[in-house]
Amino acid sequence: MGFLPQDVKFDIDLIKKYAKPAPRYTSYPTAQEFTEEFTPQDYKEKLIQSNERKTPLSLYFHIPFCESACYFCGCNVIITRRKESSQPYLKYLYKEMDLVSSYLDKDRKVVQLHWGGGTPNYLENDQIKELFTEIKKRFEFDKNPEISIEIDPRHIDREKIFLLRELGFNRISFGIQDFNPKVQQAVNRIQPEEMIFNVMSWIREADFESVNIDLIYGLPYQTLETFTDTVEKTIKLNPDRIANFNFAYVPWLKRLQRNIDPSTLPPPEEKLEILKMTIDKLTKAGYLFIGMDHFAKPNDELAIAQRNRTLHRNFQGYTTHAEAELIGFGATSISMLYDAYAQNAKTLREYYEPIDRGELPTARGVKLNEDDIIRRDVIMRLMSHFQLYKGEIEEKYGIKFDEYFKPEMERLKELEADELLKLYPDRIDVTPAGRLLIRNIAVNFDVYTLAKKEKRFSQAI
Ligand code: SF4
Repeated sequence: MGFLPQDVKFDIDLIKKYAKPAPRYTSYPTAQEFTEEFTPQDYKEKLIQSNERKTPLSLYFHIPFCESACYFCGCNVIITRRKESSQPYLKYLYKEMDLVSSYLDKDRKVVQLHWGGGTPNYLENDQIKELFTEIKKRFEFDKNPEISIEIDPRHIDREKIFLLRELGFNRISFGIQDFNPKVQQAVNRIQPEEMIFNVMSWIREADFESVNIDLIYGLPYQTLETFTDTVEKTIKLNPDRIANFNFAYVPWLKRLQRNIDPSTLPPPEEKLEILKMTIDKLTKAGYLFIGMDHFAKPNDELAIAQRNRTLHRNFQGYTTHAEAELIGFGATSISMLYDAYAQNAKTLREYYEPIDRGELPTARGVKLNEDDIIRRDVIMRLMSHFQLYKGEIEEKYGIKFDEYFKPEMERLKELEADELLKLYPDRIDVTPAGRLLIRNIAVNFDVYTLAKKEKRFSQAI
């Protein structure tokens, strides 16, 4: 018997010692390893080869438009109120679907569909219906698919929520970030409490199966007191899942963050107190810690999948469909096949041009070798289950775990001494204190990130 997966312990000394920047592992290798050497032709070949595996499909649609800019945002967005710019974009999505679906066997069923952004509800009701219909024309859906959408609560009404539900959307996600008006003003995202509670009541009335809410800690003017209020109000809203993201202020990477005055950000010590309070309050309210920044009710399918060790990670975060191959549509979207990642072009012009020539709009990507595939499996199991049975990896890939990962297991002994994990002959268990540091544990299996760290280290000397 190991630890229960949902147990989590906040250990300030370990967090201070180990919480160094590390990838979030929504992919392995991470997107940093994607290159332009991976061509549209490579993606086409990989799509055709994927038919041999007969895996089901998970489709992702990226809607990049937003009506205004939230200053914390790190997504690829196009800020415009000119709604007409979305119509040509939809036409290109249909053409991209024509291309991709022509390479895929018709009997591969869609088990999961997700619309993200940007703001998918930027689309008018007619456009939402049209896009949904065009997807259904080209792909065969499973009997009980998971169909989810991210919405912006500032631009939705009861009618739109009911339309989404009638079309077949059964999961919905939206960002609150923080209820405090001063914080909202500082990040340019004003959404009064009353509006949020109204949106939630419409979602419940429409009977969505699962509702996710995003919070962000570390935003301007947040204090332990103000964020306690935000967490309490969120618990009152009673969502099925809560994601509590850590705000990383990196204005040199994310242009919109230049609008934030760094002197208004809570100091690191206060951020840690905020995190501790959030974990305490959410777990006391009955939410289980899923991993990274995610919490879910015990009867939510993420929590069930974690208990059954079928939880998985991809570009949408935690998911229950480990078996499906992810196909992304739209600008910047990423596809994840068994042995390749492919990312579409970023700007609308770069995305439209190849499609006009009848080519896939792939801009970059990476092919995975056997070692990448094994390491990805190890990293994703650790990130999702906080436990790794060596025998499962040995059987699947024909390796001797302790021999194959000799240097990694040596490194893990140091983490075991600090009680982040426990090493057994047959498995690795991450302790409740190690769970908040799961990225810093997983990075030990990531040859690319470790190589870069070593390079930086030697350069420093
Ligand atoms: S947080 Fe959402 S609504 Fe705000 S700019 Fe980013 S994608 Fe758009």
